[in-house]
Amino acid sequence: MVFDDDLKQGLAAFAALLDASDTVVPFTGAGISTDSGIPDFRSPGGLWTRNKPIPFDAFLASAEARREAWQRRFAMDAAFTAARPGPGHRTIARWVASGLSPAVITQNIDNLHQDSGVATESVVEVHGNTTYATCLSCGRRHELSWIRPLFEAHGEAPDCQACGGLLKTATISFGQAMPQEAMRRAGELARRCDVFVAIGSSLVVHPAAGLPLIARESGAWLVIINREPTPCDEAADIVLRGEIGSILNDRADL
Ligand code: NAD
Repeated sequence: MVFDDDLKQGLAAFAALLDASDTVVPFTGAGISTDSGIPDFRSPGGLWTRNKPIPFDAFLASAEARREAWQRRFAMDAAFTAARPGPGHRTIARWVASGLSPAVITQNIDNLHQDSGVATESVVEVHGNTTYATCLSCGRRHELSWIRPLFEAHGEAPDCQACGGLLKTATISFGQAMPQEAMRRAGELARRCDVFVAIGSSLVVHPAAGLPLIARESGAWLVIINREPTPCDEAADIVLRGEIGSILNDRADL
């Protein structure tokens, strides 16, 4: 059922559902972080409308594409560094702390769930993390604070300190293999929960966008929180169509 004009009734139904459930799995997309100052992809003015994503094969093949990718990343650095968790992140942190949620699955790359107090091992990142870089050959982690001055001095990012491989932010680009362990855990969480709550995801980026339906088919209640319609709304039990910041606004009953 879609609640848009009368959110109050929808919030009451959602609160009752949470109350009656043992395991609630939140699944978050870029919309949960727009209140924290990080634009999403697909909303008007979002990153997608400004820059088309650089596919993984282009990053591997072209020094020019790598330069562009790093330039875009560092242009966003102030926004990522200044961002603080919002009410949605805080609500989820509360669910995890109370044991209601075993973990949060996120498409986001901004580290804000960890910043809100959720332990790293309880954040299942299906698209990686942009707050650090890894070597594409040996996987070694490198900090952006080391890469940035070298990039600015030489016009290209340095190579891996351990093996000389290419460095890339630890995110999953279009065309790059999904992280197997994160996807395995995400699937398991979706199959084993009582309630699956998709928050601020357009639910169009697959395979992550298939998780709500996996949960639904495994018998979970499906709740969607988004200001826009999504392709999964018809399958959902409760759709709360509104602003995340006013729906998950530190209410004690959610
Ligand atoms: P998306 O941009 O495709 O969709 C965001 C959705 O959230 C939209 O449906 C929009 O209507 C909704 N939304 C935005 N702000 C909202 C608000 N305040 N209240 C309610 N709804 C709101 O994002 P996606 O589905 O997560 O897919 C984009 C991919 O881009 C992700 O997989 C992620 O890797 C990456 N990305 C991440 C970030 C981040 O880490 N914060 C930001 C941009 C893009």
